[in-house]
Amino acid sequence: MPNELFRRHFLKAGVGFIGAAAGKVLFTDFSTVVLAQSTRQLEWRYCRKCQALFYDGYGKKGRCPTGNGHVAQGLNFFLAYDTPETPTAQAAWRFCNKCYMMFYDGYPNKGVCPVGGGHVAQGYNFVLSHDIPASGLEQNAWRFCNKCHAMFYDGYENKGTCSAGGGHVAAGYNFVLRFKGNLEDDVQLVPCSPPSCY
Ligand SMILES: [Zn+2]
Ligand SMILES: [Zn+2]
Ligand SMILES: [Zn+2]
Repeated sequence: MPNELFRRHFLKAGVGFIGAAAGKVLFTDFSTVVLAQSTRQLEWRYCRKCQALFYDGYGKKGRCPTGNGHVAQGLNFFLAYDTPETPTAQAAWRFCNKCYMMFYDGYPNKGVCPVGGGHVAQGYNFVLSHDIPASGLEQNAWRFCNKCHAMFYDGYENKGTCSAGGGHVAAGYNFVLRFKGNLEDDVQLVPCSPPSCY
């Protein structure tokens, strides 16, 4: 029940460190944010082989540019979909049903899929935050690769393995992705601020 977890987290946060300082106005604002934020999908992960973002919620792990399936490591991202695009949140990010990577579907050219040809979109239309400060439950340095069109993590010296050859090459926005923390216990973490929560 992700929505219920969100609600409890925000209510606890509101009581814990907003309520004491500012009372009900901010508390009410947080509640509004929670209600508006009803569509997110969990199980988006970093692949430690290619450094791209892929969907790990199926038994099969797609196709990694390094060969075989992707291998998840680290944070479990919790991504918004089917919500309006804003100046700091870009739509048209899609799941590729061939390689399972997250790719940008806003161009006529669909990039380079490790399975062959371009990526093929399926399912939700993800709307991803960019160029905002990362809160305690968000990670930045996620970028669009202008060679394969996948989302990859650009925070390391090594740029992973691109389906188009060599490493990924970052272009455009600096994406800030929300991950699932320990929502019940880590109330000291700063929750996302409204621009990043939509
Ligand atoms: Zn991979
Ligand atoms: Zn693909
Ligand atoms: Zn690439």
